Amino acid sequence: MLRLLCVTAHPDDEAGGFGGTLLHYARKGVETHVLCLTPGQAATNRAGAKNDDELAAMRRREFAAACKILNVTHGEVMDYPDARLYRIDFYTAVEDLTRRMRSIRPQVVITMGPEGSITAHPDHSMVSLFATMAFHWAARNNRFPEQLKQGLDVHKAQKLYYTSATFTIPERPPVFLPPITASVDAGEFLEAKIAAFKAHTSQTPLFAAVEATLRKRGAKEHFHLAAAATPRTVEQETDLFAGVAAD
Ligand SMILES: [Zn+2]
Repeated sequence: MLRLLCVTAHPDDEAGGFGGTLLHYARKGVETHVLCLTPGQAATNRAGAKNDDELAAMRRREFAAACKILNVTHGEVMDYPDARLYRIDFYTAVEDLTRRMRSIRPQVVITMGPEGSITAHPDHSMVSLFATMAFHWAARNNRFPEQLKQGLDVHKAQKLYYTSATFTIPERPPVFLPPITASVDAGEFLEAKIAAFKAHTSQTPLFAAVEATLRKRGAKEHFHLAAAATPRTVEQETDLFAGVAAD
């Protein structure tokens, strides 16, 4: 069985940055998982929510609806504070993600780059750091050994990718995106990806701008190979599972 894990920061990241790739691999019979660290309770667009808890509940429902459109096998919104991931305890977040990696046992992990992806959001940067450490530490028996005593095994995922793009957004802080080493052709899923984004109805004021960005991204979703289980030179890939062994 092949398994893909996508680690994000906010409900809606899964659609905009990774939606085509999630649909592409679901179509191929890969089990797909999305872990979203925050319920997006700090969003500017609040859809009339009276407080953070109400907005979080709304956004959890929207995330579930988007995951359904994206044929995600299992999606989970965790409970970390939106817009404050750089203030939380690093070790706790990595422990949490390591536990899930050891449970889900993905061969391939996709997440954002440490620059914060095209929006340069600090939460995206932190998710990158947490997920990268969890990718490496899930494989080591001297990291979080209490999880091993509780019945989990170490897990060596085979590839870690950061999302990338062929353009940046001028209105956002300047970022240097990681060099593209893999491009997944997900053109046939573009409309479904936009529909998944629009499942996040609390974010309606963003729809026009995001749709324009997604159409600009076009058919391909681009990635950067950030780590691999075996030493290798960089090649341009069209399949994130190239060379990956099922288990
Ligand atoms: Zn985000």
